[in-house]
Amino acid sequence: MTTKVLGAATVAMALTTPTALAVEYKVEYKKDNSSNPSLWDVPEKRNVLTQITVTSERPASFTLANGLQVVVIPDHRTPIVTQMIWYKVGSADDAPGKSGLAHFFEHLMFKGTAKHPPGEFSRTVLRVGGKQNAITSMDYTSYFQRVPREQLARMMELEADRMTGLILKDENVLSERDVVLEEFNKSVANNPDRRFTEQIRAALYLNHPYGRPNLGWRQELEKLDREDALAFYKRFYAPNNAILIIAGDVDPKEIRPMVEKNFGDIPAQPAIPAKRVRPQEPTPAAPRTVTLSDPRVEQPTWRRSYLVPSSSTAAAGESPALDVLAQVMGGGTNSYLYRVLVIDKQLAISTGASYHGTSLDPSQFMISATPKPGVHFVEIEDAIDKVIADLAQNPARAEDLERVKTQLIAQAIYAQDDQVMLAVLYGRGLTTGLSVDDIRSWPDSIRAVTAEQVRKAAQGWLDKKRSVTGYLIKESAPKCEEKRS
Ligand SMILES: [Zn+2]
Repeated sequence: MTTKVLGAATVAMALTTPTALAVEYKVEYKKDNSSNPSLWDVPEKRNVLTQITVTSERPASFTLANGLQVVVIPDHRTPIVTQMIWYKVGSADDAPGKSGLAHFFEHLMFKGTAKHPPGEFSRTVLRVGGKQNAITSMDYTSYFQRVPREQLARMMELEADRMTGLILKDENVLSERDVVLEEFNKSVANNPDRRFTEQIRAALYLNHPYGRPNLGWRQELEKLDREDALAFYKRFYAPNNAILIIAGDVDPKEIRPMVEKNFGDIPAQPAIPAKRVRPQEPTPAAPRTVTLSDPRVEQPTWRRSYLVPSSSTAAAGESPALDVLAQVMGGGTNSYLYRVLVIDKQLAISTGASYHGTSLDPSQFMISATPKPGVHFVEIEDAIDKVIADLAQNPARAEDLERVKTQLIAQAIYAQDDQVMLAVLYGRGLTTGLSVDDIRSWPDSIRAVTAEQVRKAAQGWLDKKRSVTGYLIKESAPKCEEKRS
């Protein structure tokens, strides 16, 4: 299966920095060579001027007696439908010592049931010309199929069946663990940028499980077994811990009986709490730094992450102000960081800033820069600190504010042009504490942001005590230990 690459937004944000909800749609997905077909296409960046809003129709929503929440998003442009089931469990819900289990389990969901042997679900999707994939993030795990409209009933039968009907045997669990370890080797161990992201994250979160990597720590990952998987399955995979999203050319009235038929008899899991409560961060007291050196680093990178509220934890207006601040600082060649570091002072090749608002618990505001050859990190850091100090003191210029608001809203609208992304927008918001109305009113909340709110966001949240500054450098000489061997 593919895995959401956490931190990919940071990695990819160099010149143009999509932020906020918009950045979330653009997260990269990586394919691996596991047994299941990966059919995900990353949506192309679209021409800003030729797009229209997908629909202004409000999604229909209902909840079954067993707690399954259902959201139906009308999209009548093509006779295609996307089914996406979202479980409110992610890698931040892995028990201590079991990091990586949520993602590992995502792979195991393709191992077949008594009714449908391994591979049947995937083959069925392929046969009808559909697409499928799965995502594990810190806060959720989701599975989707995009198929011709008339195949929805079949897809729903298969998805409902594996909610509780999975058959896990030692041999298929352990062989899939090898697949996941290989994924770890490829996407983390051999990827300095990903390791850098993980080290910064681990230093930023002193107490919250967001500090653990999405794929887990290797020494824990390699011990996960069938019993762990079964306990996790029983605990978290239940209708009252899930949201079913159907986007496409459907009538909400025909969906309800279909959902009742397929999911209605699955019992709720009484152990699921009404609200997820995780260990929270103490008040940050000290700036931290992380230096990661690796022989494979091609370009040194400077990065800083601040602990900031998410859209679910922020006070009213604060999260959209952080969205706008990130775009003012790092969105494209008109951004403040680009103008100062790349154009005026010629210290950096690229700069970026991003804010990840869609998160159940406090999130990150990230700034990055790639120094020009010969430029020291201290010069980069001084220049960035001056930009931050300026933003904390002086309100952003009116024309800059208008421009970035338009960019943010446009990005959000164009992302909805893709039906899967439309489903992702709702699933991601709903599994991280937002309501349908919060998600729909996001453009209005961006429009309402004032220059003073942006200044206050910079002043209040971009405080070094709340941050980790990271330096990714090339390791030139071999290590001492290696010389001796
Ligand atoms: Zn994976």
